[in-house]
Amino acid sequence: MKVKLQVMKFGGTSVGDAFCIARTAQIVAKAARENGCVVVVSAMSGVTNRLIEAAKNAQTAKPPEARVILEALKNQHEAALVRLIDSEEERGRIRPKMEEVLAEGRRLCEGTALLRELTPRALDAISSLGERLSAPLIAAAINEEGTASQAIEATELIVTDAFHGGAELQMELTREKSQGRLRPLLEKGIVPVVTGFIGATAEGQLTTLGRGGSDYSATILGAALDADEVIIWTDVDGVMTADPRLVPEARTIPVISYREAAELAYFGAKVLHPKTLNPVVQAAIPVWIRNSFAPERPGTKITVEGRSIGGGVKALTAIRDVTLISVGGPGIVGLPDVVGRTFSTTAEVRANVLLISQSSSQNDICFIVSAADAKRTVEALRQEFEQDLAHHNVEHITADSNIAIVAVVGENMRGTPGIAGKTFNALGREGVNIIAIAQGSSESNISFVIEEKAVKTALMTTHREFGLDAAPS
Ligand code: ADP
Ligand code: ASP
Ligand code: MG
Repeated sequence: MKVKLQVMKFGGTSVGDAFCIARTAQIVAKAARENGCVVVVSAMSGVTNRLIEAAKNAQTAKPPEARVILEALKNQHEAALVRLIDSEEERGRIRPKMEEVLAEGRRLCEGTALLRELTPRALDAISSLGERLSAPLIAAAINEEGTASQAIEATELIVTDAFHGGAELQMELTREKSQGRLRPLLEKGIVPVVTGFIGATAEGQLTTLGRGGSDYSATILGAALDADEVIIWTDVDGVMTADPRLVPEARTIPVISYREAAELAYFGAKVLHPKTLNPVVQAAIPVWIRNSFAPERPGTKITVEGRSIGGGVKALTAIRDVTLISVGGPGIVGLPDVVGRTFSTTAEVRANVLLISQSSSQNDICFIVSAADAKRTVEALRQEFEQDLAHHNVEHITADSNIAIVAVVGENMRGTPGIAGKTFNALGREGVNIIAIAQGSSESNISFVIEEKAVKTALMTTHREFGLDAAPS
């Protein structure tokens, strides 16, 4: 056994074309010379979106469009295969694996078109095809670098419940399966290349961990294998003080705590899937975020302690695909248990509640859920409060999707007075209207709700106000 075990995850852009895959394979081959390495891969960039589009086309009786998408994906992977692998014999070994996955995709789309129904289970099966196509390709590219490698489907390793589209992990079974399947390969010096994003129920039914879930797959395997570290290779230099696409002055944060990184992930920093840190916190396995396009740069290290900084605020984030739901009317003051009923309803439909705000007069309870959860939440609430709506005890149940949450994050905000004041002053100066505010009792996060169109201004202003563009983080 090599000294250290690393789990390395490469996101969509890091495996976006043959050129990127070749660079990824070099990073892996170099690491595998010194350490034991398990690789987790995403689908090639954009592929999951295309697959979901194909599934929706099939559902809406447009099977030719779905077929065109699958054909384009076949060509894209074939082109990458030809560029990456010199030997025709080796290509001939990979092609049937990819063809098998594509044929399954065609059958799934045909079935969906026939039934005109896209079940969550079928959608999971179709959206998983991208990872199932990229893994054999990337394993072949690593072999090409002279490092033995083998593609493995995560359905053999990661065990979940049957909640399609965002399945819950079953760690004990996952641990057993992952150790049993991957340890023998590692002992032989083979680098397993595991499909990110997917798992399976104990009965073997394929599930997905939610969009962007390959980060989570990596930390799940890191914890299951007692790895020494997890490295998430992406297209930016690490966790930054804000999304660089919205705030060009954003800087890389060299060290950040689990708690801070988790808050950022939870509130929309796309660089990490919201659940990424859950599996590794207990065992304190460090997680690195690094740039596969600039592997010489150190990136961000996520650890238990993080590192304290003067100002208290470490980073900002915004989450846009959200909906503000409000249940209210003057009559709700007299109604027993409105809060309880509201949130047992959200729990029943498994809506992820991101923020809650309630005025003391109890005229209105408002909370925010992901846009994807909004429709079923409102429907379930209308059902729950049907009688109360009819008798006007509850006047309205409304949904507003033109909003966003901005979160100001930093563990040292605890005990640093004036952060909320400073934030809201700055936003007031810029004319950004604040719709609701929440601060967790941990005081490592202040979040507020604003109109969606004000997100960029709010982030730029707050970033400048706290000197995040200049301060050493
Ligand atoms: P991958 O395909 O590697 O999983 P993602 O696109 O999911 O990559 O995540 C990386 C992107 O996250 C970056 O390109 C960046 O635009 C975005 N991002 C949002 N917030 C942050 C942040 N605080 N730090 C770094 N990147 C961020
Ligand atoms: N390919 C999946 C997605 O696009 C998972 C991931 O990239 O992390 O959501
Ligand atoms: Mg991602």
